[in-house]
Amino acid sequence: MTRPDVLPKKRKPLSKLEFAKLAVQQNGKCAVCQAKLRFEPHQVRDEHIVSLFGGGSNDLSNRELRCPACVTQKNADDAARHAKIRRLRGETKTGPKKKIQSRGFDKTYRRKMNGQTVKRG
Ligand SMILES: [Zn+2]
Repeated sequence: MTRPDVLPKKRKPLSKLEFAKLAVQQNGKCAVCQAKLRFEPHQVRDEHIVSLFGGGSNDLSNRELRCPACVTQKNADDAARHAKIRRLRGETKTGPKKKIQSRGFDKTYRRKMNGQTVKRG
């Protein structure tokens, strides 16, 4: 079954102008930790505030600039959130973790604190 309405949109790269607008808006600082951004390759990333996967848009209002450390943190958070969204949508093959079936331990017996096994009754 396909549900095109909930499929993630494609990430749209920021234009140089959009990037510059964000940089000015944020006073050249990381949106999260307020560290001064270094405008060099791989030192600034534009991120979706609400991820595309979570229904966010590619609009400039949903974008912010972050330092590499905060991008790493967000990706870790997103991974967990996305995994949950997929589970809720039933997109995972495995589904919820199943309880491991006991292989024959007789439930009519139980172990006492002293290690002795006694029959329930
Ligand atoms: Zn930061």
